[in-house]
Amino acid sequence: MSDMIPLPSHKWPTLEPGWVWLCGAGPGDPGLLTLHAANALRQADVVIYDALVQEQILDWAPQAEHIYAGKRGGKPSAKQRDISLRLVDLARAGKRVLRLKGGDPFVFGRGGEEAQTLVQHGIPIRIIPGISAGIGGLAYAGIPVTHRDVNQSVTFVTGHDQSGNTPGSLDWVSISKGSQVIVIYMGMKHIAQITGHLIAAGRSIHEPVAVVTTATTDDQKVLETTLGTIVDDIAKAALEPPAIICVGQSVLMRQVLDWQGMAAGQAPRNLDPLERGRPAETA
Ligand code: SAH
Repeated sequence: MSDMIPLPSHKWPTLEPGWVWLCGAGPGDPGLLTLHAANALRQADVVIYDALVQEQILDWAPQAEHIYAGKRGGKPSAKQRDISLRLVDLARAGKRVLRLKGGDPFVFGRGGEEAQTLVQHGIPIRIIPGISAGIGGLAYAGIPVTHRDVNQSVTFVTGHDQSGNTPGSLDWVSISKGSQVIVIYMGMKHIAQITGHLIAAGRSIHEPVAVVTTATTDDQKVLETTLGTIVDDIAKAALEPPAIICVGQSVLMRQVLDWQGMAAGQAPRNLDPLERGRPAETA
């Protein structure tokens, strides 16, 4: 694509006919695509993309056929297999196939399953990681997923399993006790049960929580609330998925790190949200 910005010199891999590359598209903002994603987009014959991929990212592959393979939570899982088999058929037909998934393909995206199905059918693959919503989406809300004064670990959980229920396999008591910061994907539908589990396991109703919807896009919304008030506040604000929900003290850092607020004209605020009473980087 001669009219596209040339990629810097590097040994860029070639997407060969008959191959499928599974690629993360990041959480939304096209600027969060990786250079490997850009390299893939300009070579593909076919791009099969998910509901969470921003359509403007497809502008990076004007030469390709664009196939929508959207499915939202709770739909029968047979559809997933249809998508994988479609990828197999396209590869066997000699296409250069790019499977584009929101965020990172291996983070709650069933990328591992798709990739395994392809390999089982003898199709060669490449994996291109992406920025996951649970990290990049929070960063766009001014929330560091780890912050030395807050957490030495972070737990990523999914709010529902394949059947559409809150995952029965999750040990909410251990998560509550062991995870200073909990980042919840696909949590909106079952938010009442999830917060109920966390409070029952000993987390304070006053614990800060942020809900970031359509993160990194122009429609991004951020709700700052608490475990005790989140259900009402989500309803009041009429928030809709997709959303990342972050539970933990790191949410307070947004008071200082809301860089989008600064981009919109707010002056930097020299606050001390964690009440440490000392400069940020004193040991
Ligand atoms: N592979 C993706 C996650 C897929 S699961 C990733 O790494 O980000 C789908 C869930 O991801 C959504 O229900 C939501 O919880 C989260 N998500 C993805 N994109 C998002 C966005 N732009 N804003 C908020 N949440 C998002």
